[in-house]
Amino acid sequence: MALPVEERFINNLTGNGLFAKKDFTVGEVIFEERPLVSCQFAWNEDCGYKSCEYCLRPLESAQENARRLTGLPDLVLPFPEYDAIDKSLQETCDGCGITYCSPSCKDEAFRRYHQTMCHKKGQSHPLAVIRASWKEMHYPPESMNVMILAKLAAMFRQASEEERSALSKMLARFQSGFASANESFIHRMMGQQFQAQLETLRPLFAAAFPEMIFQDWWTRQNFLSLFTVFARNAQGVGVSSFGAWQYALRNSSTFTEDAKTFLDVTYVAINEKTGEEFIDNEGSGLYIMQRACNHSCDPNTEVSFLHNDSTLSLIARHPIKVGEEIFISYLDECTLKHSRHTRRKILRENYLFECQCRLCSQQADQADITSDEDGGEDDDWKSDDPMEEEEA
Ligand SMILES: [Zn+2]
Ligand SMILES: [Zn+2]
Ligand SMILES: [Zn+2]
Repeated sequence: MALPVEERFINNLTGNGLFAKKDFTVGEVIFEERPLVSCQFAWNEDCGYKSCEYCLRPLESAQENARRLTGLPDLVLPFPEYDAIDKSLQETCDGCGITYCSPSCKDEAFRRYHQTMCHKKGQSHPLAVIRASWKEMHYPPESMNVMILAKLAAMFRQASEEERSALSKMLARFQSGFASANESFIHRMMGQQFQAQLETLRPLFAAAFPEMIFQDWWTRQNFLSLFTVFARNAQGVGVSSFGAWQYALRNSSTFTEDAKTFLDVTYVAINEKTGEEFIDNEGSGLYIMQRACNHSCDPNTEVSFLHNDSTLSLIARHPIKVGEEIFISYLDECTLKHSRHTRRKILRENYLFECQCRLCSQQADQADITSDEDGGEDDDWKSDDPMEEEEA
């Protein structure tokens, strides 16, 4: 099936963009794509959030999920028919005990990278050392897991000659156009200690993947460049069995006042026990088409995970005409509501560009609003960079 979008060069400043090849109405799915590689966050995994190692689909039933999140062991979820998790399909790797949501995920993971990555729990395997080292230097809130880079290397090792060259080309597309900004991105992602941390991780990767095919991967410059691919492009993935269950319930004819009250009470309990921002199984992935979408503070699409796994669905939030550029937002919904000043500051510092989107252009007369006049909204977004706070 021909894709309803195409990637085109815009100009040297912006680089490429994604454009509609047909009209879309509000709510329409523009495209869906599987990640090149994805990985659950390390702390998330160790805190009991159970995901399929391959596709990130939650493994807990909605009820188990709700019990863990609320801390109420006897909680009974009504309407079990809206639970999308089929545990009878789940399979475990005989070698390491990791669980997959289905036989096909298990087979595909093994074929692509898991043959390399499979190891028993313990600290002696080179990949276990990398993971432990990463966890020590990267506390929640997490934005990536270094094991995604290990997976990529494992994919490269297990690939055929032909697949390897395709993978290299794909990686080059993620890397294009930002060579000069590498250090700034890693700095934003990892904080002040990033130089030392990269130098801690680099020999660990070189030890885990010592073959000739990796001779270019672990040089200081190239290791930095690989990290930047993730810092710049990793799309967060958040899914949960309880979330999928409540979504199905809300959109059903059984969504009565009683069901609504039950949900309200359950969310209060989750908020008290877990905190609402920690509901989801979380991870991140690299997506080749999503990567081509530029940012707008009033985006015409939004990223969604309708299938309760790492399959990304891009949904139209405005009507889109053929030939129009497809925009996503690099900022979350809450941050999008902030003033032009605040949005542009965050984009400048995190993504290293001056936003020239339609909304920012329309609001150009707001250019002089300071963060104070902005109701102190800047406080919602706290820099973790001590240097910067000194400058402020
Ligand atoms: Zn799966
Ligand atoms: Zn295994
Ligand atoms: Zn903007």
